[in-house]
Order: sequence, then structure tokens, then C-alpha cells
Amino acid sequence: MADNKEGLKRNAWMRIEDEELERVFDFNEGYIDFLSQVKTEREAVDYIVKVARLKGFTDIDKVNQLEVGQKLIITEKGKICGLLVMGTRPLEEGINMVASHLDSPRLDLKARPVYEADGLTLLKTHYYGGIKKYHWVSIPLALHGVVVKKDGQKIEVCIGEKDSDLVFTIADLLPHLGKKQMEKKASEVVSGEALNALAGSMPLKEVENDSIKKYFMQLLKESYDIEEDDFTSAELQLVPAYAAREVGLDRSMVGAYGQDDRVCAYTSLQAILEVEKPERTALCLFVDKEEIGSTGNTGLQSLLIENIMAEILHKAGQHDYFMLRKCLAASYALSADVNAAVDPNYPEVFEKMNCSFLSNGIVLTKYTGSRGKAESNDANPEYLGAIRALFDNHNVVWQVGELGKVDLGGGGTVARYMAYYGMEVVDCGVAVMGMHSPFEVVSKADVYMAYQAYRAFMQEFGAAPKTTTSKKRNVKKASKKEK
Ligand code: MN
Ligand code: MN
Repeated sequence: MADNKEGLKRNAWMRIEDEELERVFDFNEGYIDFLSQVKTEREAVDYIVKVARLKGFTDIDKVNQLEVGQKLIITEKGKICGLLVMGTRPLEEGINMVASHLDSPRLDLKARPVYEADGLTLLKTHYYGGIKKYHWVSIPLALHGVVVKKDGQKIEVCIGEKDSDLVFTIADLLPHLGKKQMEKKASEVVSGEALNALAGSMPLKEVENDSIKKYFMQLLKESYDIEEDDFTSAELQLVPAYAAREVGLDRSMVGAYGQDDRVCAYTSLQAILEVEKPERTALCLFVDKEEIGSTGNTGLQSLLIENIMAEILHKAGQHDYFMLRKCLAASYALSADVNAAVDPNYPEVFEKMNCSFLSNGIVLTKYTGSRGKAESNDANPEYLGAIRALFDNHNVVWQVGELGKVDLGGGGTVARYMAYYGMEVVDCGVAVMGMHSPFEVVSKADVYMAYQAYRAFMQEFGAAPKTTTSKKRNVKKASKKEK
């Protein structure tokens, strides 16, 4: 069972020098803080815009002319964001883009969520993304989101994150009465319509009908000015109500909700904040709706990328439609999304020569898809070769990845929607254990390597070669022992 020397050779921790170790842990402190603060796409955009402004990025609406090195913020609908650093080379030669997604699986409130039953107030939900429904019972839940009143007024809601806050929860059936439930398939153990969250139990004394629900609505009105009809124009999400934590006695891992894909969002954000006057214009894009198929006007199946680049070219004084096509087709992209890490509890679903492992560095995934790569992007080897060289030249520890054994399932990312424009694109992100669960786990070493990889890519991928003297990352200690 013990992992062999070959495994240790690939281990990123073995290749991080002692003086770099502190930086790895410091970087992850910021990451843990981000995960604890940010649980929805809207909160992520607010966070990104805030830190970007502090680092010299300007809202694109405030800019009329573009200059080399200029740093721009583009947002749409409060749910997607792009950070762009203008390069020295012409835009029609293409840009370097890293795209991650800000949405995570969760429970959305229905349009008419509030009801009373058996002396309780409950909230009806419709789950968002690929969840195992049984994960969402018996955990504390926080309510995040916005409610938009008829007059356009937007009320922001975040209940359940402070220690003193109340939380919501979905009670599970007790085992004593769960005999029949336990015989069901896992997908049916908790039904979608049973994901109703407890929200109150006290009645309004003077009211006869629905007095418990009415007390809940009275409190909502008093505290938030929200009335029952307002739920119909709201975006309210129930998410795990706990902070991110360090995992393991060595504190080498991060456990938290929403790391798919906010681990790639945070690492690429930190990377673009450090990009200065790249040759090729760098765009760090944060999108929405990936978990439900990249649909809607904030998902990558829309003309989002095209509209952003059209605006940039327009500001650069280039109004030629062909220029836009050329720019997009000549671009390089990383689809920054997570892959599944090998889980020793479930070896039967992983093919260990090609699947990714925790702590073995950022994962380069040539193709995703299912049933014979269906709906996959399948990156070109010419492009992969160049990416390998970039990572090796920058001491980025990386590994290959494939989503489990052939024909066991599969999945997709935004890569194929980017490839649509003709640009080169490959999936490149962090390995996650317990993906799509309310407590996903990643390795701090991989988080750090993702940041290094995205920074190198946006700063200088595709730039004219220059002589570098960067020190190669060696396998320390263990290599000596091996001899
Ligand atoms: Mn993802
Ligand atoms: Mn996902």
C-alpha cells in the first residue's frame, strides 16, 4: 500500500525549498480567508473588483484610450468579471486568457419558498449544479444573495456567517425510522423536494392561520424589508455556513465549501494582480453558470468573451470585425478548473497512471468529456508541448489528469466554449478531493503551484524567447536517500 519513491518524486512538497515553504503557507492564509468570506458569484465579483482597484486596476467605463501596461476591470451583471493587463504587442496577435468560474453547487430558494407545516416554517429549494443531495442535510446553512424590489432597490442578504448569526438547516430522517430510506439508492435517499430548510418555529400570538409563517415574514420585513412577493425577484442561495479550515496535523490541506472553482479563481486573481506589461495582453476571466452548463448571459456559452474583446478593440481604436476574429483565434487560454484527485477510499474509480493526485502540482488535463471524450475540448499537442515548457522553465510542479477511469462517468468544463473561437485552450487547475461536496479538500502546495502557473502564463506565455537563468526545481532530500 505504501506509496513508493516514484510517488515522492512527483510530490510538490518535496520540491518546495524551505525558504519558499513560508510563502506557500502565507499564500494559503489569504486563500482560506477568501473562501470564508466569499460563497457566491456575486460576492466573488465584489471581492475581485475591490482588490483589483487597490492594485491599480480601473473600471473600463472610465477609460477612453488604452496604453501598454494599463490595467482594466470589466464586470457584467455583478456576476462575472474580467481583469485585463494591456500588453506591448498588437491585440490581433492574440491574448493570454485564464478563465475560471465563480459559481458552485448549492441550494437555491424557489420563487415562492416560504411555507408552514407541522408548526414549523420551511423554505423550499431547487438545487443548483451536480450535488449528492444527502450531503445537504444535517449541516448548518447560511443564506446569501440578493432580493430586488419592484422599484429596483436591491437588498443584499447574508445570514449565518457570523458566529452570533442564526443558521438554517435541513433535518435528516432519524435512523430509527429510516429503515426504508436506507434501502433506497443514494440518489433517492433524500429527494429534491425534501430539501426544505428549517426557518422558524414561533407563532405570532394574535394570528390564527399560518401564524408561524407569518411571524417569519414579519421578521423578514422588519430586518430586511423583504415581503413574500419579493422572493419572486430574488437570487437567494443556501450554502454551508462554516469557514474554511486547515486540514491535517501538518496543516497541509485546505477544507472548504466552493473550492470548485474558487481555488482557480483565487489563484488566477493573485496571479493577474502581479502581471506587469506583458508582451501579449493578459485577461483573467471569472465566469458564472459553469455548474449548470455555462448557460445564461453570464455563462461562457454566451458571447461574453467576444463582447469583452470587442469592447477592448473598440477602445483601442480598432473597429474592424475581422480584427476581433483574428484576436480571438490567435489567443491562448487556460480553462482554469479543478480535476478530481485520486481518493484512496475509492481506488476503483481512478486509473492511477493518468489521474491526478493531491500535492502533485497543478493538473494539465488534455481532455475531459465522457463516453469516448464526447463534448471534450481535447487540447492540441503543439500547445501542450509549449505549456509543458513554460511550467518547467518556471519551476511549476505539474501533473497530468484525467477525470477517473474510462466509461465510469466524466464531466466537462468551459474549455470547449473557448475553443469555439479558434484559440488554443487546455484545462489546467487544482486537484480536489470530495469535489462538489460541502467540504472539498485541496493541497496547499497545489494552490501555490496554480498561482505560479497562471502568473507565468499570463505574464509571458508566447512572448519572444529571452535567456533565462532560473534555477531548476529539484527533488530535495528524498533523491539523496534514494541513492
Ligand atoms: Mn468547476
Ligand atoms: Mn464543478
